[in-house]
Amino acid sequence: MTQSRSTAAPMLDVIIIGAGVAGLYAIHKLRQQGLKVRAYEQGDDVGGTWYWNRYPGCRCDVESLEYSFSFSPELDQEWKWPERYGNQGEILKYVRHVADRFDLRRDVQFNTRITSATFDEASSQWTVKTDKGETITGRYCIMATGNLSTPRKPDIKGIDSFKGKWYHTGLWPHDGVDFSGLRVGVIGTGSSGVQSIPHIAKQAKHLFVFQRTANFSLPAQNAPMDAEKERRHKQRYPELRSQAVNTPFGIAGYPPPTKSALEVSEEERNAIYERKWKEGGSISFLYSFTDLLTNKEANDTASEFVRNKIRQTVKDPKTAELLCPNDHPIGTKRLILDTNYYETYNLPHVKLVDIRSHPIEEITPEGIRTSDGQHYDLDAIVFATGFDAMTGVMKEIDIRGTNGLSIKEKWSNGPLTYLGIMVAGFPNMFMVTGPQSPGVKSQMIFSCEQHVDWIANAIRHVSERQSRRIEATPEAEMAWVAHNNEVAESTLYVMANSWYMGANIPGKPRVFMPYVGGVTSYVQKCNEVVANDYEGFKLSA
Ligand code: NAP
Repeated sequence: MTQSRSTAAPMLDVIIIGAGVAGLYAIHKLRQQGLKVRAYEQGDDVGGTWYWNRYPGCRCDVESLEYSFSFSPELDQEWKWPERYGNQGEILKYVRHVADRFDLRRDVQFNTRITSATFDEASSQWTVKTDKGETITGRYCIMATGNLSTPRKPDIKGIDSFKGKWYHTGLWPHDGVDFSGLRVGVIGTGSSGVQSIPHIAKQAKHLFVFQRTANFSLPAQNAPMDAEKERRHKQRYPELRSQAVNTPFGIAGYPPPTKSALEVSEEERNAIYERKWKEGGSISFLYSFTDLLTNKEANDTASEFVRNKIRQTVKDPKTAELLCPNDHPIGTKRLILDTNYYETYNLPHVKLVDIRSHPIEEITPEGIRTSDGQHYDLDAIVFATGFDAMTGVMKEIDIRGTNGLSIKEKWSNGPLTYLGIMVAGFPNMFMVTGPQSPGVKSQMIFSCEQHVDWIANAIRHVSERQSRRIEATPEAEMAWVAHNNEVAESTLYVMANSWYMGANIPGKPRVFMPYVGGVTSYVQKCNEVVANDYEGFKLSA
């Protein structure tokens, strides 16, 4: 009879789950506070989202000079980004460099999945178990698990019968995939689909794109890094980094809009959109006017501008019309940045299949059959079908707080958090960029650093008070959730069936998850809480 191996590791001050951007910065920050920390990482290297999402064309939609750590002025000056937007390989190289430069790897255990995390009331500490049979205890547990970490392959009839190869964009093979000469089907036209489709089209003999919902995409206008721009940006780094906090998305350097889209003539409006289109980037475009995300009529002008661009680009009018999004206001789903996405549909071997009108009925051993009886013969299928976002990863780990309550039960009707950092009933457990914080609606690295800094201060505060335990009160949590919902309701975001709403997962509660009140007011709130002696949190021995 075999027995599962169970070894007791020494107690840590802080257990960190995940060694992506958030986990790595948490190691760095907390070690500086003299704490004994260790991160547990499922992959065999650092990088998190940039480790897993290796699909062709994967690129960040925030400019590389901004999408980077801010904690080291030396790092800011030393690192050279080759392009305006970093591609997956470059960003992973950067994250690896950070891990080496700050000697972070020695506190990471790779190839290790955390299966459970349990809070012990008597000792006020967390015990986590790994898939290797280890048991680790620590005073605090930090979920640095990311928001888009649970790739989702849809539940389509016959999916396992397919005889060809299939891939998910969020779990891409490390040595790449060669689609040369193959008939390929891509299911999904979110950011991952839109970025990968032009690249897959370059190799495939035939490419069928199965689109259920059209999304808005803008040209990234990616280019090699402009040396002069880089020099100027590096000169102003400290100032730009500190200004980021006074912006809605945690990104400085974009002049905020001053006018409503409805205040100017159509000619002026379109000239502004045209300039932003040529500049590239989503922040710049959404900053065209003050009310694009709050006033439907204003938003319609921007949505129509982009639809007209699609009609001008795609030669076949029927395909162009199918590619025009018409079920949500622009910007209420993650605005995509692409390179040659719409142009790809002018290639003779690329076909858009409208699965809104004729849904996929089944995946057969040879391909995909749609409800109009069409069968698409395929050698490979790419699922660009997204993630169980924001809450998926937390629910995959069996997390139990006081009285044995699981996070899965607690969040059965949607996430409940205080500031997106803590959950009432789960003392000493912190989340980095959890639901109801701006995380995914901001420059992610900025938000990871802001949360880790806040958490590090909270841990110091608990120890200065000679306490052992910090937890969010149910009242503070309830008020924060209500505020989060109220803010979301005042915007157009709730009009879209997006992953922000949990709408992409059948059966998932429809609750708007990110905080969309902007980085400035969020950070202010976090600081006020501290100034008011950790208002909404309870400390105990
Ligand atoms: P996504 O935005 O959730 O898109 C998933 C796509 O798959 C949608 O088009 C969806 O259609 C389709 N789909 C899902 N289930 C389906 C089914 N059963 N049958 C047919 N179609 C189905 O996922 P994603 O593209 O991976 O992007 C997720 C997020 O990751 C992005 O919003 C972004 O925040 C982040 N991301 C960022 C970058 C970047 O920085 N550049 C790149 C990639 C991803 P419906 O809309 O009809 O459900």
